[in-house]
Amino acid sequence: MIFGIDLGTTNSLIAYLKDGVPTPIPNVFGEFTTPSVVALDENNEILVGRNARERLYTAPRQSVASFKRLMGSTEQIALGKRHFRPEDLSALVLRSLAADAEAHLNERVEEVVISVPAYFNDTQRKATRLAGELAGLSVKRLINEPTAAALFHGIADREDDATFLVFDLGGGTFDVSILERFSGVMEVRATGGDSFLGGDDFTEMMMRLIAEQLALPPKKRTEPKIASALRFAAESAKRALSEDKEAEVQLPAALGGSVFRIAASDYESACSGLLQRLRSPVEQAMRDARLQLAGLAEIVLVGGATRMPMIRRLAAQLFGRLPARYPDPDQTIALGAAVCAGLVGRDAAFEEMVLADVCPHSLGTSVSERDARGTMIGDIFLPIIERNTVVPASRVKTVQTVADFQEKLRIDIYQGESRQCSKNVHLGGMEFTIPLEKAGEVKADIRYTYDVNGILDVDIDIGRAGISKNLLIKKLSGDVSEEEIERRRLELAELKVHPRDQEQNRLLLESGDRLYEHLLGDERQFVGSWLDEFRAVLERQDPREIKAAGDALKDRLAALERGGAW
Ligand code: AMP
Repeated sequence: MIFGIDLGTTNSLIAYLKDGVPTPIPNVFGEFTTPSVVALDENNEILVGRNARERLYTAPRQSVASFKRLMGSTEQIALGKRHFRPEDLSALVLRSLAADAEAHLNERVEEVVISVPAYFNDTQRKATRLAGELAGLSVKRLINEPTAAALFHGIADREDDATFLVFDLGGGTFDVSILERFSGVMEVRATGGDSFLGGDDFTEMMMRLIAEQLALPPKKRTEPKIASALRFAAESAKRALSEDKEAEVQLPAALGGSVFRIAASDYESACSGLLQRLRSPVEQAMRDARLQLAGLAEIVLVGGATRMPMIRRLAAQLFGRLPARYPDPDQTIALGAAVCAGLVGRDAAFEEMVLADVCPHSLGTSVSERDARGTMIGDIFLPIIERNTVVPASRVKTVQTVADFQEKLRIDIYQGESRQCSKNVHLGGMEFTIPLEKAGEVKADIRYTYDVNGILDVDIDIGRAGISKNLLIKKLSGDVSEEEIERRRLELAELKVHPRDQEQNRLLLESGDRLYEHLLGDERQFVGSWLDEFRAVLERQDPREIKAAGDALKDRLAALERGGAW
C-alpha cells in the first residue's frame, strides 16, 4: 500500500485508502495531527510531535519547529550539541508518522506520496524527496498541496463537472489553485501563491501586539524564553479570536503573568497588510486560468489558518459569495495525498480517474540582447516552460552566440517570473567551450522536461560543437549521492528515539513542566508536587499504578489548563 503524507510547516499527518475511502491515521496520542516539531530530551533522545512542541517552551534551545521553511537551503539547525539539516528534521517527522501508521495498521510503511507547497522550487522539492529517503521511505510521488486538497474535494462529489478554487492558508505558505473536473479528469488550470506568507505571520503580528502592550524592548523579544512565551500566548490569543470578538489571555510568568486583552477589530486592522498580500495570488491565478468569477462553482478553504474569521470574510469579499466550509481543513491535504497514492498505486476505487497537474513556476534560461541603441544587455530571462503549463511537459528553445569569436557559451537555468534572471531562483548552469565563429553561427537547443513530481531535466544540444549533454540539475543544485544518502540515513537511524510506548507519560511530564513555568504561587506548587509524585510512580514501574496515576494527573492538569489560558 502507498500512504499519503502531508508534511506541513506546523503539523503533519499520514493517511491511507481504506476500502477506497481516504482515512487519516491517528498518532500515539490518538490525534490525527502531529506537530512538525523535533526536540531532544535530557537523555539526548529524540522527541517528535506533541512532546517536542511542549519543549519549545520549556527548552527552546533543545527544540525546533517550522524547519519546512528552510527546506532546500544548506542551513544547519542546532539542536543541543548536534547540527541538523532541514531535511534530516523532516525525515524524523516522516519516520514518526510512519511508526504511528505501522502501529495502527500493523503493516510496514514503505511507499509514500508526500505533498509539497505548489510554490516549492526544484531544490525544495528535491530536499523533500531526500527527507523521505533519509527516513527509509520510497517517495512514489510529490504532489502539490492544493492539488491534493482539490483531489480530495473533487472526489467527494463526483457527480457533475465543475471548476473550483482552492484557497489554502497553512502555517507557512499560501497556495491558490484552480481546478476543473470533467469526465473523470481532474485538471489543474492554474496555481499561484506566496511561499512566505502563512498563519505564522498572523501569530507574529499578535506577538508584536503583546510585546508592544508590555513595552518589551526589541532585544528582549528575541531572547529564547521570552520569544517562545510570546509565541505561545499569541497563538492562544489568535485562536481565541477565531471563536469570539474579544480574547483574554493569561500571560505566562515569563511575561509577567498579567492578562492580555484584545478585540478582534484591533487585531484585524493590525493584519490588514497581510490580508492585502493574500489578494494578488488569487487574482493572478484567475487571470492565468482565464476565468471570470461566475465560472467558479465553489471556493474551498483549506489549511488551519482559514479558521480565522477575517480570512473567511476576505474570501467572501474576493469572490462575492461565502466559501464552502468543510469540517477539517487540517486533514484535507493528507487525505488528498492518500487519493493521489491511490491513483499512483492504481487502486480500484480510482481506476477511472486521471490527474493533470501544472508546473507552478516558469522555467527558463538567461540570454543577452542588444537594445535599440545596439548596447548589449544581459541577465534577461527567456522562459522555456511557462508557469501553469500542464505536466509532464517538454519544450525546446534555441539560443545563439551574441559576439564574434565567442569562446564559451554559458547556459544557466532559472525558475521564476521576473524578466531579470538575477531576481529568479538559480537552479544550475554550465559553461561550454565552442568553436570560434561569427556571432549567431553557434546555436544551442535547450530542452526542458518537467515531470509529474515537479522535477526538471535539461538537455543541451550544440550541433556545431558536437556537444549533446544532459545537464543534471541534481548535481548542480547540491543533490547528494546514493552513498551520501545511505550514510546520512544510517546516522539518523542511529539516533536514539524516545520509546513510543512511553510517549503518553512523557507528555504529562512535559506539559506539567510547561504549566509549572507558566503558573505562579500555589498553583505552581501544586503542579510541582504532582509531578514529583508521578515521577516516583514511574520509577516503581508498576503498569497498573502508572496508568491510574497518569489518568489522575491528566485530569488535574487539564483542569488547570482550562482555568487559565494554559
Ligand atoms: P496547517 O499548516 O494547515 O496545519 O495550518 C497551521 C496554521 O493554522 C497555524 O498558523 C495555526 O496557528 C493556524 N490555526 C490553526 N487553528 C487555528 C484557529 N482556530 N484559529 C486561527 N488559526 C489557526
